[in-house]
Amino acid sequence: TFKDRVILADLPHLVLEAMAIAAWVVGAREGIVYLRHEYAAEREALQSALDEATRLGVVGRGALDGRDFHVRLFVSPGGYILGEETALLEALEDRRGEPRLKPPFPTTHGLRGCPTVINNVETLAAVPVILERGAEWWRRQGRNGAAGLKFIAVSGDVARPGVHCVPMGTTVAELIERCGGMAGGVALAGFMPGGVSSNFLPAARADVPMDFAALQRAGSMLGSGALIVVGAGRDLLALAVNALRFFRNESCGKCVPCRVGTHQAVTLLDEALAGRPAAGLPARLAELGATLGQTSICGLGQVALQPVLSAMAQFPDQVATRLVPGKR
Ligand code: SF4
Repeated sequence: TFKDRVILADLPHLVLEAMAIAAWVVGAREGIVYLRHEYAAEREALQSALDEATRLGVVGRGALDGRDFHVRLFVSPGGYILGEETALLEALEDRRGEPRLKPPFPTTHGLRGCPTVINNVETLAAVPVILERGAEWWRRQGRNGAAGLKFIAVSGDVARPGVHCVPMGTTVAELIERCGGMAGGVALAGFMPGGVSSNFLPAARADVPMDFAALQRAGSMLGSGALIVVGAGRDLLALAVNALRFFRNESCGKCVPCRVGTHQAVTLLDEALAGRPAAGLPARLAELGATLGQTSICGLGQVALQPVLSAMAQFPDQVATRLVPGKR
């Protein structure tokens, strides 16, 4: 998911302007941009935009109708789970980055127990243009029944991976075309439309619009707006297990189902990858997925098994058969 990096590097003033607007609306006096420590170029761009905004009086002393609004950059110690809003708040309060139980939600009990507005970079960046041109204009930018514009990060087996700002509702096939088609001219096998936590969809669904409702109807989700394109010939089981292994490694360990369940699933699947699937493996994976979905505190654990379960469902020949002893 790298679309937000591009926005921060190229359009940081939009994010700061939107923060000032949000602060003006809710009466906030303090704004924080939370940034991963690896993002040095984005930090520089943000700092220079912040200096300029301060010079122009958009933020700072008396900036909001005489009320102070100060913005600072918080450089995160890192960790995927810190993208979860309450884990992020814990880190801002100098504690270990683990999600909080919700409710209460940050809107009422956020940073230091105060009501807190938390939004993603892309959401903030859209605010100034919507206010300037109006909601109706924004709505008209979408296609295929969707509203607005969307930044999509396209990666995987396309000729030119990259970030594209497109009408919401642009189809997966059109996005692949925008990226120069499939790398090396291979056929499309499938895709994950919203990052590694979104369910796999097969090539036959490439006509699906990139939109919240359409992707949900198709059995996946828009998620983080990171389209991962998979070409024919890739080992789909290895790819799905790699996503699961990432979740296992990034689990914060706070709750048992996620901490133990992801490890169990990776151990079982590593054996399957080596050609030694355990008896009853598909049923055990389905049971683990249901348990994690129902009992994990945060989204990481809730969807950790989905890459594998959706690959089994969408690609029975390439994936599901390898999980049954004696089938391969
Ligand atoms: Fe941590 Fe996983 Fe529980 Fe989320 S689901 S709080 S990542 S252990």
